[in-house]
Amino acid sequence: MSAVASVARSLTGIGVGRGGAVAPLAFVRPAVAAPVDELPADGDAARLHEAFATVAADLRERATAASGSLAEVLSATALMAADRALISDAVKRVESGTGPATAVAEAVAGFATMFEAAGGYLAERVTDLHSVRDRVIAFLLGAPAPGLVLEGRSVVAARDLSPADTATLDLELVAAIVTELGGPTGHTAIVAGQLGIPCIVRATGVLDVAPGTLVAVDSGAGTLTVDPDDALVAAIEARAAREVMLASDTAPGATKDGHAVPLLANIGSAEDAARATAAHAEGVGLFRTEVLFLDAQEAPTVERQARDYRAAIDALGDRKVVVRTLDAGADKPLAFATQPDEENPALGVRGFRLARTIPEVVDTQLRALGEVSTPSTWVMAPMIATPAEARDFASRARAAGATTVGVMVEVPAAALRAEAILREVDFVSLGTNDLAQYTMATDRLRGELADLLDPWQPAVLDLVRATASAGRTAGKPVGVCGESASDPVMALVLVGLGVTSLSMSPGALPAVRFSVRSHTLAECEAIAAVALGADDAAHARAAAVASMDAAARATLGL
Ligand code: PEP
Ligand code: MG
Repeated sequence: MSAVASVARSLTGIGVGRGGAVAPLAFVRPAVAAPVDELPADGDAARLHEAFATVAADLRERATAASGSLAEVLSATALMAADRALISDAVKRVESGTGPATAVAEAVAGFATMFEAAGGYLAERVTDLHSVRDRVIAFLLGAPAPGLVLEGRSVVAARDLSPADTATLDLELVAAIVTELGGPTGHTAIVAGQLGIPCIVRATGVLDVAPGTLVAVDSGAGTLTVDPDDALVAAIEARAAREVMLASDTAPGATKDGHAVPLLANIGSAEDAARATAAHAEGVGLFRTEVLFLDAQEAPTVERQARDYRAAIDALGDRKVVVRTLDAGADKPLAFATQPDEENPALGVRGFRLARTIPEVVDTQLRALGEVSTPSTWVMAPMIATPAEARDFASRARAAGATTVGVMVEVPAAALRAEAILREVDFVSLGTNDLAQYTMATDRLRGELADLLDPWQPAVLDLVRATASAGRTAGKPVGVCGESASDPVMALVLVGLGVTSLSMSPGALPAVRFSVRSHTLAECEAIAAVALGADDAAHARAAAVASMDAAARATLGL
């Protein structure tokens, strides 16, 4: 590319995690488009069947070789490549005279439009659908499958990266991932987070930088710097060394003056539970059970659910685990539970509201949990808006044998009425991802609105404070399990506001543990006070950082 000189020296996107890396840039091989002058030929229908079958088999093979949520999404993409409706749509097109690659492109375009119209999780699957299209077309044209074969440690850049693309990479050689598209809750971000690879999404312009150019990625700041100077390279390398050093502290979470703050992990599977214990999480503050059933077409039986929950509970030994009942709907649609025709799914029948439409699904899950629960198993419901809903959930959960019952506070109404909600349950957990979405009226899937979705927004902090203060009055735990708990600066504010535990992706534990241990409870309270006194999100975070212990700030590279 000749436009290197005009490329900005620094690009900004949305960083995932805190990691950094310095390496040459490599681009994922782009897909080959269907030729515009493509002609139909005899046997096209059979070739189409063969192409879809080969791609599906290849993806299945990669899924078998992968693990965890990566394997799950690869299997889901393989299922998409084997989808009868998609294949027969393409076959019908070749039968009426369209060339085979064009037929695939047209059929996929039709399905993508439907997925996009459905919004939420399905809309995010459009990347997978396009991955199927590109692989099938490459097979039909005899071209190499799109992707990238790395020859050395590289920062991998792409417009977007599907799990199938990721599976073609030698991850040992991936120093960082940077994409132009995607959002902080998209596949690329999830996979990078799971693998601990520094990542930036929505980095507009990264594909205009020449491949092979040395770049520095700082996912904490969300910046990619072209041709970094020695000082920046040294700073990023020093940070990486510090992260390794921080991970050597595995003691329970506590402030400098010994106020205990249990540091927990967020998980979605038994494999995640094993990863959480390896990262010295003291337990699990959020087990997203819907993740287990994203591909299920029918409601899972009590037996299937009990088996899946037992696997995770066993992996955690006697550590505490907060199991959340199905949060189906909006960004996490489940085929067997989601209303198909909602205009605003984030405001519709999601989370515990399923008890209105399919109460048997809620009660079946609680029965399965009742069968496998130990004294360390806590149960909570998502998307509670009123004390009456909290009461209803608590009575269903207790009837099924749950001993410690709570609800999530992720709707502003629940935060404002937290005292009344806490009269009904034993604990609450703040879901700051949705709390920010609903407080700021900002779709959490729209990366371009990330400034509004910021958990540092003073209105969001006010609601956290109200909830924590209700917990103190009631003498009941108030945890945080939204992404904000992963931020070592926000963690101090949360502790200062009276939050009693923090739950995060396992990779975030060392920095949060260090940050909390570097400050007394009174210092956390003072940091919370300056953050609450700011007029906007950026100033709130800046004021909190400025009030931190200087040595801790330096160690965290802030
Ligand atoms: C949240 O909303 O903050 C939360 C933890 O739940 P989820 O991200 O699964 O919606
Ligand atoms: Mg939520």
